[in-house]
Amino acid sequence: MKLQSVRGTKDILPEESPRWQHCEALFRRVAALYGFQEIRIPVFEVTELFARGMGETTDVVSKEMYTFLDMGKDSLTLRPEATAGIVRAAIEHTLIEKNPVARLWYCGAMFRQERPQKGRYRQFHQFDAELLGAATPEADAEILAFAYQIVRELGIASFEVRLNSLGNTPSRLRYKDLLLEHFRPVRHQLSQDSQNRLERNPMRILDSKQPEDAEFVRSAPLLTDALDDESRAYFDNVQTLLSALGIPFTIDPRLVRGLDYYCHTAFELVTTRLGSQNALGGGGRYDGLFEQLGGKPTPGVGFALGIERLLLLMEEEGKLPQTTTATDVYIVALDAASRERGTQLAFQLRGCGVRVMTDVLARSFKAQMRDADRTGAALVVIIGEHERERNVCIVKTMANGEQQEYPLDAAKTLAALVQSTNAPHQPSNSIEHTLNTGM
Ligand code: AMP
Repeated sequence: MKLQSVRGTKDILPEESPRWQHCEALFRRVAALYGFQEIRIPVFEVTELFARGMGETTDVVSKEMYTFLDMGKDSLTLRPEATAGIVRAAIEHTLIEKNPVARLWYCGAMFRQERPQKGRYRQFHQFDAELLGAATPEADAEILAFAYQIVRELGIASFEVRLNSLGNTPSRLRYKDLLLEHFRPVRHQLSQDSQNRLERNPMRILDSKQPEDAEFVRSAPLLTDALDDESRAYFDNVQTLLSALGIPFTIDPRLVRGLDYYCHTAFELVTTRLGSQNALGGGGRYDGLFEQLGGKPTPGVGFALGIERLLLLMEEEGKLPQTTTATDVYIVALDAASRERGTQLAFQLRGCGVRVMTDVLARSFKAQMRDADRTGAALVVIIGEHERERNVCIVKTMANGEQQEYPLDAAKTLAALVQSTNAPHQPSNSIEHTLNTGM
């Protein structure tokens, strides 16, 4: 029986990987602009980290985690998100004590057992950034600007920033009371999940996607109305900063994160073009998370962007990058001895930093030329018996068809020629080499 990939996982095929590399290079570049450094965290952690870090009442923790017993003993979980792991690492390695502020980013696969559909997978990838150690509106604005700049620099236009404030702890406690007053009288009309959450964490009900909850969620009191003066001033400050940066946003008073340690700024980057999976990313402030995970009180703010969704949207908007050719030189060899010389020349050229492809199927001259054309090589080096005997090779410039002889043992001269041939040859079948076939 032919084995297949697991439902909700995807292979990123060679023709797709350049678009991933494009995103990853951009993440790395923009992260450096904001002074963020890369951290690499393990793919699995102890289950308790996510139970404590994301909250037992969240869908992710209660229903979606890939959890297993390690040698039948410890409960481990494939990471469903990066924040908990990053904060765990910051505590474990005392990153904040060495330096009052840590700016960290991470990019990698996350795992959630959700029902797969377009834009929703069981293994998906996130770019994640966390600014640890600062409890200021400036830090929130910096994180939001960072996420915004990435999406803009990917060329994506059809998205908006939604912003809300969860306020400080007293404001959220007041808000929880308001929610309890609102939901308790109708508790039996709510979904089972929401009934379970009512006393434990009523704010989580606001995230419910169950149709029976929709009406009660719609009529629920707004968090914005429960903010105290301090929280309101903080929120105003964040908005003023974003306006000064020229970053457009809309206030979404229903944007909440139902965990106790989330506070003040919460935001999402959403698009209208990907159907129900419309969130490109989200973020916010989590000043209580360090303590939750056993660390000293340390504020934090961060965001995560979903890479599959960014790529889907780039495709919709015709913003996927054009691929460039992967070969500078193709060596065509006409007999066994020429193939040996060709292999040698290829090795020498590669040693000079030239990208070289050889025919490894001992094909006919015509088939090799066709293959050379397909690769988009700027130069084709032809070696046959006639050339070999004179210790030369023929170099054909594909852009204009010109042919010239060069010494066979002068790899450096050929390498210099490659560098001066700056107009890459367009392969005859350019569709094959163009990621964005819609353009
Ligand atoms: P979250 O950690 O749930 O706030 O998710 C942050 C971002 O990750 C979302 O806005 C999505 O872009 C992406 N994301 C979350 N879950 C999935 C999934 N199952 N499949 C693909 N992308 C996802």
